Amino acid sequence: MDEQAKAQTAQAEEVTIFDKIVAKEIPATIIFEDDSCMAFRDVNPVAKVHFLVIPKDRKGLTQLCKADETHEAMLGHLMVVAAKVAKQEGLDETGYRVVINDGKDGCQSVYHLHIHVIGGQLLSWPPGV
Ligand code: AMP
Repeated sequence: MDEQAKAQTAQAEEVTIFDKIVAKEIPATIIFEDDSCMAFRDVNPVAKVHFLVIPKDRKGLTQLCKADETHEAMLGHLMVVAAKVAKQEGLDETGYRVVINDGKDGCQSVYHLHIHVIGGQLLSWPPGV
């Protein structure tokens, strides 16, 4: 099933696959970790470099549309970590793309907020239908 089809049936779950990665119950290539967040390589990369940045505890952030003022610090931290890890991956010289998919139309398939960081090669634009 491709990502678009998968996203049409995906829904919020009590425990997501990303919770299992945080708990180290399933393997992932973790490239950054601190007390509150983690970055790991996407298992199905869409470019030479593709990693995800997630909060360890989603705290209601199943998706971006659930964000409120209580999430401001975490959302800011995730962006700063995305930039830090992009630099660690050598992407800062040539650029990269940061994406958050939200809900069915946004093709979100895992309901644990995550930032995609994609790069390592020239990307096409615009995305869309
Ligand atoms: P989204 O469609 O924005 O919800 O993105 C979910 C992403 O998680 C997809 O790009 C998947 O390839 C990725 N993914 C799903 N399971 C895993 C996993 N076990 N390890 C790493 N990435 C995963």
